[in-house]
Amino acid sequence: MRLPDPDTTTIADLGAEMHGFASELFPLCRSITGDGLRETLRRIGTRVPLEIREVPTGSKVFDWTIPPEWNVRTAYVRNSRGENVVDFESNNLHLVGYSAPVSARMPLDELRPRLTTIPEHPDWIPYRTSYYEETWGFCLSHNALLALDDGEYEVLVDSTLAAGSLSYGECYLAGEREDEVLISTHVCHPSLANDNLSGIVVATALAEFLASLPRRLSYRFLFVPGTIGAIAWLHANREHVSRIAHGLVLTCVGDSGDTTYKRSRRGDADIDRAVAHVLRHSGDDHVLIDFSPDGYDERQYCSPGFDLPVGCFMRTPHGQFPEYHTSADDLDLIRPESLADSFKKVLAALSVVENDGVCVNLNPHGEPQLGRRGLFRSAGGRKRESIDERALAWVLNLSDSTNSLLDIAERSRLEFHSVRAAADALLEHGLLEERA
Ligand code: ZN
Repeated sequence: MRLPDPDTTTIADLGAEMHGFASELFPLCRSITGDGLRETLRRIGTRVPLEIREVPTGSKVFDWTIPPEWNVRTAYVRNSRGENVVDFESNNLHLVGYSAPVSARMPLDELRPRLTTIPEHPDWIPYRTSYYEETWGFCLSHNALLALDDGEYEVLVDSTLAAGSLSYGECYLAGEREDEVLISTHVCHPSLANDNLSGIVVATALAEFLASLPRRLSYRFLFVPGTIGAIAWLHANREHVSRIAHGLVLTCVGDSGDTTYKRSRRGDADIDRAVAHVLRHSGDDHVLIDFSPDGYDERQYCSPGFDLPVGCFMRTPHGQFPEYHTSADDLDLIRPESLADSFKKVLAALSVVENDGVCVNLNPHGEPQLGRRGLFRSAGGRKRESIDERALAWVLNLSDSTNSLLDIAERSRLEFHSVRAAADALLEHGLLEERA
C-alpha cells in the first residue's frame, strides 16, 4: 500500500508538535549511559511501543566494553565570594560529559587547564565529553572565563561512575514481511537541539505515524547512544541483521539548511536510490554525498563485517554549521517547518521502498490495446485522469522481471508513485503480474 501523504495542515501541526517534544526533552542531561538517557527513552515510550534494553557495565560488545554508568547530582565552580561562576544547574553543557567526581580548592592557574571555551564565539558554551579516559572539566563561555579573577575557587563535581548499564530503546513494528527498515538515531547528547533532539523527535513521529498504518515491511526504530549503543545493538543482533533490507540514520534534521543524504557504503542500495529519487522530485535544493567512514552510526552499520544498506539522512552535516556542539545548538536553531520537511521526505522515501516491486508484462508481444480497457485517452472519454499514459507505456515495456518499479521510475524520469499507480491499473486489468 502507499503510505499516505499527510496533508499540509497535518504536516504543519506535526512540525509544531515535534518541536514541542524537543523542548520537553531539551533540559535532560543525556549521555551514553545514566538516568537522563533512561528518562528520555521513557518519554519516547509514552508515544510509541518501546522496549528499553539495559546492557551491564563491563559487557564486551565486539572490540568495546560497556563503560561504568555516569550520573550527576550537581557540579559547579564557586568563587571566594560564594558565587557559582560555572554551574551545571544552569546548563548541563558546563560539565564535561563523564567527568569523574572531584571536590577541591584551587587557584585559577591550576583550574585553567580544566576549562574549555570557544574564543571565536565568546558567548557560546562548548560541548565536550571524555567517555573512555577518566578526567573532569568544565566548559564555559569565553566571556565568562575572561571575567574570572585570580582568587581561589571551590570545585565540586558530585557525580558517580559506577557499575550500572547502558540503556537503549527499540521500537519494532511488524509488517507482512520479515524484511525490515531500520531507522536509527543517537540519544546521547545533553541539551543540544539539532544534534540530536531533531533526529529523536522525527524518528518518534515516524514510528507513531507508521504504527497506525498497515505495513508490508517491518520497521525497527533504534534510539541508541552514539557509537557504543549502535555497536551494542549490532552485537546483540548479529545473527539477525540479514533481515535489514533498508536503513537510515537520522541526525541534524531540524536546521533550516537543505537536505543532505549520505549514501550507504554500498552506494547503490535501494534506500540510496529511493532517497535520491524523492529529493530529485521534491524540487528542493539538496546535496547527495558518497559514503565516508565518519559522521554517525552509519559507520557501525556500514562497517565491513555488516555492510548494511544504511544511509544517513540529515540537513546541514555535523561540523558544517557554526552552532554544532555548542550551546547555540538550541531550540531556536531547529524549526518546526524543517522538522516537518524532514519527516515528509523520509516518509516519502519509505513509501518508495514500501511500494516497490517487480512485475511481468503478461502481454509482451506488441503493445496491449489499452483503449478498450479504459486505460487510454481514445477510450470514449473514459480516461482515468490519475494514470499517466507515459507511465503505462514504460511499465509495460520494462516489466520483463528484471526491472523494479523504482528502476522504471528512474529510467523514465517519472515520479515513483505515478509508475506504481500505472502498474496497479495494469495489474487490475490482468496485463501484469507482480512477483512475490
Ligand atoms: Zn554530536
